[in-house]
Amino acid sequence: MTSAIVVGAGPNGLAAAVTLAQAGVGVTVLEAADEIGGGTRSSELTVPGVLHDHCSAVHPMGIGSPFMRSLDLERHGVSWCWPEVDLAHPLDGGGAGVMVRSIGDTAEGLGSDGRQWRRLFGPLAEGFDDLAEDLLRPVAHLPKHPLRLARFGPRALLPATMLARRWRTAEAKALFAGVAAHVYHPLTAPTTAALGTMMIASGHRFGWPVARGGSRTITAALAAIVEAHGGKIETGVRVRSLDELPPADVMMLDLTPGAAADLLGDRLPGRVRRAYRRFRPAPGAFKVDLAVEGGIPWRNEACRKAGTLHLGGTIDEVVHAEREIHFGRMPDRPFVLVAQQYLADPSRSAGDVHPIWAYAHVPHGYTGDATEAIIDQIERFAPGVRDRIVGRFVRSTADMAAYNPNYVGGDIITGANTPLQMVMRPRVALDPYYTGVSGVFICSAATPPGAGVHGMGGHNAARSALRRM
Ligand SMILES: Cc1cc2nc3c(=O)[nH]c(=O)nc-3n(C[C@H](O)[C@H](O)[C@H](O)COP(=O)(O)OP(=O)(O)OC[C@H]3O[C@@H](n4cnc5c(N)ncnc54)[C@H](O)[C@@H]3O)c2cc1C
Repeated sequence: MTSAIVVGAGPNGLAAAVTLAQAGVGVTVLEAADEIGGGTRSSELTVPGVLHDHCSAVHPMGIGSPFMRSLDLERHGVSWCWPEVDLAHPLDGGGAGVMVRSIGDTAEGLGSDGRQWRRLFGPLAEGFDDLAEDLLRPVAHLPKHPLRLARFGPRALLPATMLARRWRTAEAKALFAGVAAHVYHPLTAPTTAALGTMMIASGHRFGWPVARGGSRTITAALAAIVEAHGGKIETGVRVRSLDELPPADVMMLDLTPGAAADLLGDRLPGRVRRAYRRFRPAPGAFKVDLAVEGGIPWRNEACRKAGTLHLGGTIDEVVHAEREIHFGRMPDRPFVLVAQQYLADPSRSAGDVHPIWAYAHVPHGYTGDATEAIIDQIERFAPGVRDRIVGRFVRSTADMAAYNPNYVGGDIITGANTPLQMVMRPRVALDPYYTGVSGVFICSAATPPGAGVHGMGGHNAARSALRRM
């Protein structure tokens, strides 16, 4: 029997393990932490009975992932649930840009900008399933749906700020900018429109759901599938050298390129080693989980129903904050993401005490404390929230890196989305998953299609391994 070792049990490592195990390979997954899941772990961090997602919270890419959709995840315990409002972006003065799954309702809410919103995202949402097949793969492949891609491509290559010019209202511009900011790169740079466009299209196709019982249920389901195929998963095993490992035909590394280079040492061809060492990290994340009695008293009504909120004010303010962190400066008002998963999944609350997930985009390796800046941003749109906080759990960029070795300097997306790394990661190669060492592949979010709980990096890497076998 062909054997494989997977290092790292994040969603990509487990996706690789599922794909190999389904093909009849004998798989062993080794995970450094005491628990599987990487960026999908969940537990009670603040107040007993209040369930928090430690990292990923909202899953427009998970529910839209061709790999995840090919599995019967529901049978293994995944249950997607949706808030009434998928996304809100509040502004000073009480207004907000609001996205719901229905593109018609979203367009109506955006008033005079609604028509442009529908014109851009309507066809992309309609063709999302085809688009996902082509976009969630390495760029160097023969497209399956060239016409869809031709419609997406020219807009996606634009800077987000340029694409946003099609809207006139502060609400529509801010709504788009907030989603675009997930790219973690200055929004004036080419290709920064791509990720936001894709996430909005997925939102209008599937909504922005959370997983009932926490994001941990997604990787628990993947692990169950691996085990159902005879695979083994060991936790508490940090792999530091290849020499520690038993021989295997295939090795999948759910690691950063730097960690892969450390592990493979001199076995790695020089040009690959240099590319992995040059791979640029993204800015950092500073995370604050709150337990809030009675929930957040948002000024805007839609915000009270929203699963996800982007806090950063106008597009100009978001652009400024993202630029500052890129250059290593902490803005006074950072871009903050908030999730209220309990609105879709009330089982996460304890009575009237609710979990609030929040993090700020901060400079790479930021050593300061962004807790108050995050709470200030919430308070700005929800006066009085401070008095309702009954518990908090904070993770700085250093804590992030200690929690997960893949989050170097607090980089939670495993590599900057520079225009080059956006299309070619972790190096320029026809097969970006192959390390150049026979049988060894890299499969983390440092590979196409990048960050998110979609498992596509792991799945694509495993397919590359199977093709070469
Ligand atoms: C705060 C935060 C918010 C996020 N929000 C979202 C969101 O809402 N939606 C979304 O889709 N995505 C979100 N993400 C991103 C998402 O979680 C990641 O992109 C995704 O988890 C990447 O999966 P991965 O398998 O590549 O890596 P990871 O999930 O990082 O898993 C890597 C695993 O490898 C293990 N490992 C590392 N080194 C070793 C070693 N030497 N030996 C053994 N094991 C090792 C780690 O312990 C870890 O378990 C968020 C991430 C964070 C941190």
